[in-house]
Amino acid sequence: MTTATHPTLAEASARREPRFLIIGAGMSGILSAIKLQEAGLDDFAIYEKADRLGGTWRENTYPGISCDVPSHLYSYSFAPHPEWSRRFSPGSEIQAYFEDVARRHGVTERIEFGKEVVRCAFEDGRWEIELADGSRDAGDFVIAATGVLHHPALPALEGLDSFAGAAFHSARWNHDVSLAGKRVGVVGTGSSAIQIVSAVVDEVAELVLFQRTPQWVLPIENPAYSEEERAEFREHPEAMAAIRDEVSRAFVDGFANVLVDAKSPLLQVIHDTCEANLDNSVKDPELREKLRPDYRATCKRLIMSEDFYDAIQRPNARLVTEAIERVEESGVRTRDGRLHELDVLVLATGFRVDRFMRPMEVVGRDGVRLDDVWKEGPFAYMAVSVAGFPNFFMLNGPNGPVGNFSLIDVAEMQFAYILKLVEQVRSGACGEIGVSRAAMERFDAERREAAKTTIWATGCKSWYLDAGGLPTAWPWTFDRFREEMSQPRLADYEMR
Ligand code: NAP
Repeated sequence: MTTATHPTLAEASARREPRFLIIGAGMSGILSAIKLQEAGLDDFAIYEKADRLGGTWRENTYPGISCDVPSHLYSYSFAPHPEWSRRFSPGSEIQAYFEDVARRHGVTERIEFGKEVVRCAFEDGRWEIELADGSRDAGDFVIAATGVLHHPALPALEGLDSFAGAAFHSARWNHDVSLAGKRVGVVGTGSSAIQIVSAVVDEVAELVLFQRTPQWVLPIENPAYSEEERAEFREHPEAMAAIRDEVSRAFVDGFANVLVDAKSPLLQVIHDTCEANLDNSVKDPELREKLRPDYRATCKRLIMSEDFYDAIQRPNARLVTEAIERVEESGVRTRDGRLHELDVLVLATGFRVDRFMRPMEVVGRDGVRLDDVWKEGPFAYMAVSVAGFPNFFMLNGPNGPVGNFSLIDVAEMQFAYILKLVEQVRSGACGEIGVSRAAMERFDAERREAAKTTIWATGCKSWYLDAGGLPTAWPWTFDRFREEMSQPRLADYEMR
């Protein structure tokens, strides 16, 4: 891992064999390593701060966790998996899948576990990185595969520390705490909270859900694959490919392409389906109205659940809509003065979505700090490149398509795009490549304009919005994203 064992930039470019530093061994870091190997670019290191790969799926182990993208779509295109147990398989299976794919592709043995990159600096045409343990490495390209929803957002609730029971964030589940027969409070009504509530309600003595904002819930079915179906997938992988194509097309046409046009009639269809789900599923009119959002479906990230409304109507479940005043030793006190006594408090309160690869310090050309460039909030050209940071690329970086569809698909497209940029260096056309300032500014202005007409900008609060209330996600169709990713507009890149 010392720089001395690696070629200098001049040597590397003379041999056209760049060295890559991949940061993070989650879904997109594993993908990067596999694709680099496939391209014959074997000079790379993967740094992972944890002692296990898997990213999101390593960190989120709460009861009921699954991915609401169908499993045959939420898989790498090159690694179909006949063994998925359900249409939406549980998180532990997804984690096992990534571990298996990484092992089978010889990636696991190349991961440097327990190595947190704390600084990346572009010096003399190379990226020098520093790790928390004081060690260093250098390479020609950095691939930041550091995830999106990574740093838990803890609510600023007065008195949280005084709670006598166990309190933990949904992404830091404390498996030492049994919920059986306990009074359990859950704060939040996002995708995590909804899955937790549905999974634990029958185990706990009492479940209290603290809702600040109600959510629209799209009903889904989650059938198990039978042994016969799995045998069919094993024998005929093309059957899995067919499911993947079908689901992908349905997601793109019926969802991803639609969200970016707030006027789309299909959004009304989704809204009506959610409204019918609420009206038909929740019997008590008072509870039903408490659960009814006052904004349009899909403005916030849509919740997909087959059992949340059943769960919240269980006799031992209680929905609290009164705002939280503070946390006390024995529970949560709401503004109406009522104390909700609890043994366990789960904070399903989301993530700090403006972090991306930070707190890692990134210093680009001429000492420019990413923290300064991003002081108003993170942004990136095509979600992969930032001006002033050549040969530094992100997977699932800011302004990319996030939503209820496969981030694996997104990362695969992005990595193929990045490889085309790398090719410019390999071919000798340049030694450094990164988006030009003019192209980045043009892109960002267009993105901001387009963001205003998306469903996310129709009057709700969500993690899709930046500090100024503007949606940050890719504001155009998924088809446009695919098209942009198919071939970089090299004129937008500065090559030196
Ligand atoms: P989230 O969607 O950001 O939801 C956080 C929840 O906590 C919201 O209901 C929020 O209320 C509430 N909250 C935050 N601070 C609070 C406070 N101080 N007091 C009261 N309530 C507070 O987070 P998440 O559920 O972890 O989900 C994040 C994202 O992860 C999802 O949108 C999705 O992209 C992904 N995810 C996907 C799945 C899946 O595939 N099934 C599962 C889990 C997560 P407000 O709405 O009022 O802000």
